[in-house]
Amino acid sequence: MINEKGSISIQTEDIFPIIKKWLYSDKDIFMRELVSNASDAISKLKKLSDIGEAVLPEGYKPRIDVTVNREAGTISISDNGIGMTGEEVKKYINQIAFSGAKDFIEKYRDKTDDQQIIGHFGLGFYSSFMVSSKVRIDTLSYQPGAAAVRWESSGDTEYSMSESDRKEVGTTVTLFISDDSREFLDTWKIREILKKYFAFLQYEIYLSDENEKKDKEKKEEKPINNTSPLWLKNPRDCTDEEYRNFYHEVFMDFNDPLFWIHINMDYPFNMKGIIYFPKLRHEFETLEGKIKLFYNQVFVADNIKEVIPEFLLMLKGCLDCPDLPLNVSRSFLQNEGYAEKISAHITKKIADKLQLLYKKDKESYEKYWDDINPFIKYGCMKESRFFEKVKNIIIYKTINGRYVTLDEYLNGSPDRKVYYVSDEKQQVQYVRMFKNNNRDAVILDALIDSHFISFLEMQNKDIRFLSVDSDIIDSMKDKDSAEDDIKKLQEKLEKIIKEATGTEKLKIRVESLKSESTPAIILLSEESRRFREMSRTFGRGINADELFPAEETLVLNSGNRIIRRIAELYDEENRKEDAIFAASHVYDLALLNHRGLEPEAMARFIERSNELLTRLL
Ligand code: ADP
Repeated sequence: MINEKGSISIQTEDIFPIIKKWLYSDKDIFMRELVSNASDAISKLKKLSDIGEAVLPEGYKPRIDVTVNREAGTISISDNGIGMTGEEVKKYINQIAFSGAKDFIEKYRDKTDDQQIIGHFGLGFYSSFMVSSKVRIDTLSYQPGAAAVRWESSGDTEYSMSESDRKEVGTTVTLFISDDSREFLDTWKIREILKKYFAFLQYEIYLSDENEKKDKEKKEEKPINNTSPLWLKNPRDCTDEEYRNFYHEVFMDFNDPLFWIHINMDYPFNMKGIIYFPKLRHEFETLEGKIKLFYNQVFVADNIKEVIPEFLLMLKGCLDCPDLPLNVSRSFLQNEGYAEKISAHITKKIADKLQLLYKKDKESYEKYWDDINPFIKYGCMKESRFFEKVKNIIIYKTINGRYVTLDEYLNGSPDRKVYYVSDEKQQVQYVRMFKNNNRDAVILDALIDSHFISFLEMQNKDIRFLSVDSDIIDSMKDKDSAEDDIKKLQEKLEKIIKEATGTEKLKIRVESLKSESTPAIILLSEESRRFREMSRTFGRGINADELFPAEETLVLNSGNRIIRRIAELYDEENRKEDAIFAASHVYDLALLNHRGLEPEAMARFIERSNELLTRLL
């Protein structure tokens, strides 16, 4: 070949500076582009050999070698793929690659962040100038009789071509790393980048450090990638252990996943993957799942919400979508409704899996419930199709330690009321009353539950969720007590309590409760509770109590001895003070059971308690 110099014919002479500056924070893209090219070159050669157009050398094993030479300031990416002839270099590198890069930059240079190109695919070979002051290609085409070619360019529009001494078919791209990118001359860093994008590339990648090679015996070679990720294997041939190991490997999570779903879809587009249900350590963690998106085994990005339905982002998994145009802008993908199609498929798969677990292995399903329920509830609220498919298998843990569905809970209940506990500790007295009366209540204490309750009520108009401390249910009342008696007590106690507490606002209700040992409890209307919860979630800074004063009712138990004595003492000579004293204490105790005491009330309560002990001892 005659030595040749030339100039890449272009109009925009400032393209190289743009490439160099572009995606400054994402410079490692160059590695993905070059290794992807190497991988494509191997695929092409294999395809040609398959159709009898090329002869592979004996014992051919496709491989990509990445070599870092810190002393020489170079990184090389070498493949034993198809190679290029001199004419092809001119065509592919000088013209096509260049115009590709140019188009790309023209198209995207002014794009804002939210129109980001999904995987930044497309910048191609010229992205190597982001980190190099000079790039050299040595290549030998597979074609019989082809001569090896060297191409060099220093990141301006000039290039030179000459003969190369390359002997094997394939291509080596050598980057002469520029001074401001020397951080890439670190084998660890390159390893990290390769692992990020190519942990599952189909051809083996070997990374070596040229400087280390000199002093040490060559270590046993091991590719940095796993060429056959589990998602490609037939689900029937995968063992539980393989699924678990794959999870540990990909997500660096030492915990075992709860269960998983192997996705293998070919219509309307090809998609393979594994979705895992992780074990939760705390509720917020679910919101930080990770779905890794791959394009033909090359990593694209994590959690792309234009492609992956939002509720899935709480899970962990890998999805390989070779048919998706991931080199286009995010808004395009969104408009094309890919998320919609992926969602439809995965939603169905997940719902099927959950149904199967529920029917075949209820015990495990119940065991997993604490971990998976935030996901399921969130999924139901986000995705009506999902709700339809799983609504019958949403279960609730009850105060008696069972798990029931809504239907099971409501079985035989005419009033369609579901009593729930949102804070087992705080509501312990109410829970006890429920238990004593052989009533069950469900525990709904996760952050998502207050929203989920409202959601369920919207879906089932005849069902009402009520907190255990929102009302006294009929079965807790003693039906035999005389109404007159209660009425009289009501009037008197109202007066006493108002005097004791100094508040006019408090609602007072006298009831005869079956549980005689309880003097008083406080009820908070369901509306007040919901409003409080809502303002806690949405309205930081809003004083809910001011806008919407809590509707609290003090229920005094006419069947309780203390309550009856307070009413009697009030009229006895010299005992009125004692009655007021006791009434204050009863009220504070009820408050303590309900929501606790304000600091001043607490101080008074302690003082009173001490006085009681003094009188007693
Ligand atoms: P793209 O890969 O998107 O086509 P590039 O700019 O990366 O764009 O490369 C342009 C062309 O140069 C490729 O299509 C290919 O024909 C050729 N090429 C690049 N790298 C190699 C390689 N390692 N081996 C063979 N051909 C290559």
